[in-house]
Amino acid sequence: NASRLLGKTVLITGASSGIGEATAILFAKGGANVILTARRWDALQNVVKQCAAAHKAAGAQQGGRFVPIVLDVTDKNQIASFLNKVPNELRSIDILVNNAGYVVGVDRVGDLSLENVENMFATNVFGLFALTQLFIKDFKARKTGHIINLGSIAGREAYAGGSIYCATKHAVNAFSGALLRELVDTPIRVTEIQPGMVETEFSVVRFKGDKSAADKVYDGLQPLVAEDIAEEIVWAASRPPHVNLAEVFVLPVNQA
Ligand code: NDP
Repeated sequence: NASRLLGKTVLITGASSGIGEATAILFAKGGANVILTARRWDALQNVVKQCAAAHKAAGAQQGGRFVPIVLDVTDKNQIASFLNKVPNELRSIDILVNNAGYVVGVDRVGDLSLENVENMFATNVFGLFALTQLFIKDFKARKTGHIINLGSIAGREAYAGGSIYCATKHAVNAFSGALLRELVDTPIRVTEIQPGMVETEFSVVRFKGDKSAADKVYDGLQPLVAEDIAEEIVWAASRPPHVNLAEVFVLPVNQA
């Protein structure tokens, strides 16, 4: 029931494009307040405008606060001072969407740069952990909260050229499973969303800007779009409080 989102406060990492952007807009439509974080300030501001327009068009009676905050999830100092940048009345968040993710290249092990390896772990694993830790005490104290982590099909299997990316997403799967069990005697929910191929900026970044190489991956199948995943995230968040969608594995119809 979408009314369960009314007046809720959602924090999304990586809200400047792709799945994070689509998710922010869908929560806005549903009458939530959204704190949008990422590194690109201009892109965040653009998404904030879209959230405001979607909220207005939907005639949502509650929510409607959309706050962009620059946050690099790999930066310990920015994480430590992050809450100071959140307006007081929005500090009690209800839903944390750990979406920020980084992948570069489909490089074989011999070709991966150590810098890229560090960056993938820092964003996909450290960042997700650090944001979760930032809010977990408050969730426990308030006996509420929902943590939604972006895993991937790459967290269920491994493919050539994806050694480290797959390792980070397997880590997201392990982290989400352990967290769910740590919180089993609380009302806090933990959901891991595991998308297959979704066409976003990610697809092109993966191929270092080579769009034709990126498009080749989709030969013979129609990839998902960011909105498909946003719908699953918002669906999970709007289940009755006693229902936890622990893992949601979403594929394009022709992806095996
Ligand atoms: P995008 O590249 O469109 O989005 C990635 C987002 O992460 C951007 O908003 C980017 O914002 C943000 N980001 C990257 N690094 C950092 C950082 N250090 N700190 C804060 N934000 C950061 O890709 P998607 O929307 O496709 O990806 C979103 C999530 O979905 C990722 O976790 C990805 O692994 C996962 N996923 C994607 C799939 C796909 O096929 N596209 C499949 C399965 C999972 P900015 O650059 O402004 O910081």
